[in-house]
Amino acid sequence: MKLKIAVLGGDGVGPEVTAEAVRVLRAIANVNGYEFQFTEAEVGGVAIRKHGSPLPEKTLHTCLESDAVLLGAVGHPEFDSMPRDKKPETGLLALRQALGGFANLRPVQAYAALSDSSPIKQELVFGADVMIVRELLGGLYFGEPRGIKDDTATNTMSYSRYEIERVAHIAFQQARNRRKKVTSVDKANVLECSQLWRLVVTEVAKQYSDVKLEHAYVDSFAMRLIQAPTAFDVVLTENLFGDILSDEAAVIGGSLGLLASATIGGEVDLYEPVHGSAPDIAGKGIANPVGAINSVAMLLRHTAKLEQDARLIESAVNAVLLDGYRTKDLVPSARKFNTTAEVGSAIERQC
Ligand code: ATP
Ligand code: MG
Repeated sequence: MKLKIAVLGGDGVGPEVTAEAVRVLRAIANVNGYEFQFTEAEVGGVAIRKHGSPLPEKTLHTCLESDAVLLGAVGHPEFDSMPRDKKPETGLLALRQALGGFANLRPVQAYAALSDSSPIKQELVFGADVMIVRELLGGLYFGEPRGIKDDTATNTMSYSRYEIERVAHIAFQQARNRRKKVTSVDKANVLECSQLWRLVVTEVAKQYSDVKLEHAYVDSFAMRLIQAPTAFDVVLTENLFGDILSDEAAVIGGSLGLLASATIGGEVDLYEPVHGSAPDIAGKGIANPVGAINSVAMLLRHTAKLEQDARLIESAVNAVLLDGYRTKDLVPSARKFNTTAEVGSAIERQC
């Protein structure tokens, strides 16, 4: 197994957590004799400072030449007052667009070891394991026309059959390898886009007779996701609904620092923790590396097709949490906590 991985640490805690994720990947590669070639490149604020651009040509080239991109986080308050095209975040948006991934996967699970850190009652979340599949390149965020004219602002929601089909296939394929259920979330009682969405998803489902499909309205689903998260397996939804629901679902896990994401379906797959650059804790060695480490588990699963190794990392994370390792975000104020590197190397040792 040969794999080229572009590593873009980015800003804030990004380089700290990706270093731990790379450390875990190297350990897996050593044990199994895989050849992973890591190439570091700059994106975001660090790229602006060094090269004057949030997405230098060289970085883009490195990413497009790779099999997968592992990204830390992008953004720094020092750029807050800059014009939009000079902000670090513009680099990430441009990168996402260039890579072309249309399906954003965000797994959320309740770790038994962390029952004390979820704000939701443990008996509700216990056993929860949900995979949100969000359409990422269509809908209200990209639809034309858009703009503000005089006192009227316009955004357009638009979906084609093709856009719905391709993301629906990803959701059903995910469900096949999980608990074989897809909940498609829409607002078909009000929106035409959702009516087409429902129609197309129902058609695609016919090719996956082993997977159960149910439809839900986004408003009531938002409530049920928190009331009874264990009722769901794969959740398939369009761009805006997915943006909102995936942040909502993050509460089930207990800390933003635990969550991973994958953006797949384009030229090159992109893996990144869900959290941002966390400038308030950057440089202190206290960030939770689990989100980044779970992201490389997703990389092994989706890009490298190394399911066993992906599971190995996930079990290692579980074991280390059960052993009592906790970064600061997972412990109530005054108690002792572990550093980013302590948690990373504990996970590495388990792999
Ligand atoms: P962005 O706009 O880039 O999404 P944000 O402003 O939404 O960023 P984050 O940077 O994700 O927010 O930080 C939100 C809060 O979560 C902060 O208090 C931060 O310290 C905390 N946080 C984020 N990531 C981690 C992590 N890996 N470990 C511990 N705490 C974290
Ligand atoms: Mg954010």
